[in-house]
Amino acid sequence: MTYEKIRVALDGPSGAGKSTIAKAVAAKTGLVYVDTGALYRTVGLYMAENGIAMEDEAGIIAALPEVDVDLTYEDGKQQVKLNDVPVGERIRTETASAYASAVSKIPEVRAFLLDMQKKIAARGGVIMDGRDIGTVIIPDAEVKIFMTATAEERARRRYKEQIEKGLNVTFEEVLDNIIARDRQDSEREAAPLKKADDAIEFVNDGYDIDQSADYIIDIMKKTAETMADGN
Ligand code: C5P
Repeated sequence: MTYEKIRVALDGPSGAGKSTIAKAVAAKTGLVYVDTGALYRTVGLYMAENGIAMEDEAGIIAALPEVDVDLTYEDGKQQVKLNDVPVGERIRTETASAYASAVSKIPEVRAFLLDMQKKIAARGGVIMDGRDIGTVIIPDAEVKIFMTATAEERARRRYKEQIEKGLNVTFEEVLDNIIARDRQDSEREAAPLKKADDAIEFVNDGYDIDQSADYIIDIMKKTAETMADGN
């Protein structure tokens, strides 16, 4: 069985393990993993590196014509360039995360990144992760999953990571942060985080990476069978 045409839309809040699980699904099935958060991070990086304040919406919008985001895939691996230079790990810093979140609230920024995402999706054979993939980018995706974990479970995972990195945080701080971020993501006006009506909700508390990937692959298999039957 091939998944050549299948488009998997994977949405959900931060910290639910979307990117890790999407990568595992891609490795097991040959789908291309498309990380859409990287695009918002890249726009955010440009603003950060050019001294445009996070709160300066007009300044961010005015700078968009200076931003060239190039998205390619080499051996199935995503490569993002900002004005011809690969962004690499520069988009993974705390500053880039904060900027990504700020720019993603602006409708003009979302519109700026829309075509690029739709074009990649149209190729098929993709698992795309984000916040509005099933609602805006691929409303007719063959498989739509809204993946989440309870705030407590996400806080436990994040707390463990932070402690392992030697950071001095309490579990309550981590949990409060997650609850605040969820609220901000679901209450924003532009593309709020929302489960598509026809998405399957997957709460992955108690599932490890492999089990979570297999849960998604199982849904893909069933969908591929239905497609092959012409239904
Ligand atoms: O997924 P990741 O953490 O890399 O996303 C970075 C930021 O971009 C998040 O703050 C998220 O709200 C935003 N985002 C978005 N729409 C997407 C993907 C990410 O608004 N499709």
